[in-house]
Amino acid sequence: MSHPAPTGLVFDVQRFNVHDGPGIRTTVFLKGCPLACRWCHNPEGMRTAPEILVTPDRCIACAACVEACPYDLPSGIAGGWAGSKDLCRACGLCAEACPTGARRLAGQVMTVRQLADEVTRDQVFYDRSGGGVTFSGGEPLSQADFVLACLRDLKERGIHTAVDTCGLVDRGALLEAAALADLFLFDIKHADDASHAEWAGAPNDRILANLEALARVHDAIWVRVPVVPGVNDDAANLRRTAALAASLPGVQRVSLLPYHELGEDKRERVGVPGASFATDPPPQDRMRDIATIFEEAGLLTVIGG
Ligand code: SF4
Ligand code: SF4
Repeated sequence: MSHPAPTGLVFDVQRFNVHDGPGIRTTVFLKGCPLACRWCHNPEGMRTAPEILVTPDRCIACAACVEACPYDLPSGIAGGWAGSKDLCRACGLCAEACPTGARRLAGQVMTVRQLADEVTRDQVFYDRSGGGVTFSGGEPLSQADFVLACLRDLKERGIHTAVDTCGLVDRGALLEAAALADLFLFDIKHADDASHAEWAGAPNDRILANLEALARVHDAIWVRVPVVPGVNDDAANLRRTAALAASLPGVQRVSLLPYHELGEDKRERVGVPGASFATDPPPQDRMRDIATIFEEAGLLTVIGG
């Protein structure tokens, strides 16, 4: 009996991205993440189901969404719900009707063929720039069957692929992806287990074990460290993170990603529950000091993607 072809739930496909690997890339964002980082800058990727994302500033109160909704749920102002938001089926009709993009559906079902054909449109740019396609999210390997099938397809098309992972994934899926993907972007959010659990919603033991297992079989890993002031930017944690990355043979470089505030705004738009989070972005000179810690551990270090 043949198995049905896997489909993926994709919440964005960004072309001409230069931050998620080498060259010009298309980044595919998949829904669903096992972590719950307090500073998450892609909160529309957290849940596994489609959902409506609202941007009240774009709303012109035309009420097209009210007319479109079979259940009379929108109030006519983006972000407002005349009916219970819990009744929303995420059918996307209000988003289709909205003339300004104030309502947007985050989460579209795609087949492997659809996704591969879409990203292949830019193959000429990948080839000229040394770029390719990056699977991100959310956690892309939370939809492992789909991502693995996409990686296989793109490999056959000769397209460079990268997987941007939080590391809290099934080991077997990670190692299958390792045999297909050209590059891994692997996050280390905190070197301390208890602090990782406090700020990211789960301990880091499985994540670090997965990183070590990946580094044994793959020689192109870029460790990504989000620098979040007051969370993980103390010298002891940074030195521990640097030592960890430097101990792994497959780590080619470290990317330090300064915290930015856009995620908090998006959390409100997507209605993510839980305590809000806000801190100031780290200043440039602080980022340079942090980069020095990683360079002194012998690591090629860049600030930004
Ligand atoms: S996504 Fe569908 S059910 Fe939900 S508010 Fe919009 S039209 Fe109504
Ligand atoms: S359709 Fe869009 S712009 Fe019009 S009221 Fe609804 S959210 Fe606002």
